[in-house]
Amino acid sequence: MLSVKGLKANVGDKEILKGLDFTVGPGEVHAIMGPNGSGKSTFAHVLSGREGYEVTAGSVDFDGHDLLALEPEERAQMGLFLAFQYPVELPGVNNTYFLKSAVNAIRKARGDEELDAVSFLRLMKERLKVLHLDDSLLKRPVNFGFSGGEKKRNEIFQMAMLEPKLAILDETDSGLDIDALRIVADGVNALRCAERSMIVVTHYQRLLDYIQPDHVHVLAHGRIIRSGGKELALELEEKGYGWIAGAEAEAA
Ligand code: ADP
Ligand code: MG
Ligand code: MG
Repeated sequence: MLSVKGLKANVGDKEILKGLDFTVGPGEVHAIMGPNGSGKSTFAHVLSGREGYEVTAGSVDFDGHDLLALEPEERAQMGLFLAFQYPVELPGVNNTYFLKSAVNAIRKARGDEELDAVSFLRLMKERLKVLHLDDSLLKRPVNFGFSGGEKKRNEIFQMAMLEPKLAILDETDSGLDIDALRIVADGVNALRCAERSMIVVTHYQRLLDYIQPDHVHVLAHGRIIRSGGKELALELEEKGYGWIAGAEAEAA
């Protein structure tokens, strides 16, 4: 699904990613943890194709395509979803209208028929039900005045509607309360399936109590320095990141 090899990337003239290797198989849920400033969000932004992030080495294969050669919109059309891709507040734009445009743009790019208003409404209702959400956010302007929890709910709903092959959720900067964490975790669990892989970036071990990732990775200083199962997250909770950095130094 995703194969990242030797990825190096700069922000400005500073190298942030320093040779990152990372592989995600179909249907797998991976958690990326790591100290603040280690490059987690940079990695997510590079995958999304965001401006200002310059790749200097390495390769990223996504579902058989050279991801780095694609425009951000093309990446989305191929089934890559980044939660923070749509966090912008759009005061004048109705949330339902916005989602319908996004869904239809992706369908069109895939060669699927665009959904009319009735079919779209039906699909929305079905997905709301799967996620146990109500429709209160849909009539409001996109993210405008949304609380942290509402933004999360909307993000998860966007993911459900866009049906990505690979979803990346960057949860680091948001100071989420326990309810918001539950929304994210329940959403991830409800949308987990054999055709959909997910990468959850977080420094909240608590989130992983609910999600149960297949693999856990530690990113530090622009590289994945340790990978393991969900027990790695527990070990990090207990010992912090220092013990890995220490072990790395000894091994070097
Ligand atoms: P994390 O998400 O792991 O906390 P980031 O990827 O946000 O880490 O940041 C990694 C490093 O890149 C930090 O040193 C940060 O200061 C720097 N950085 C990130 N984005 C920018 C930017 N837009 N301009 C300058 N430096 C940045
Ligand atoms: Mg950070
Ligand atoms: Mg971050």
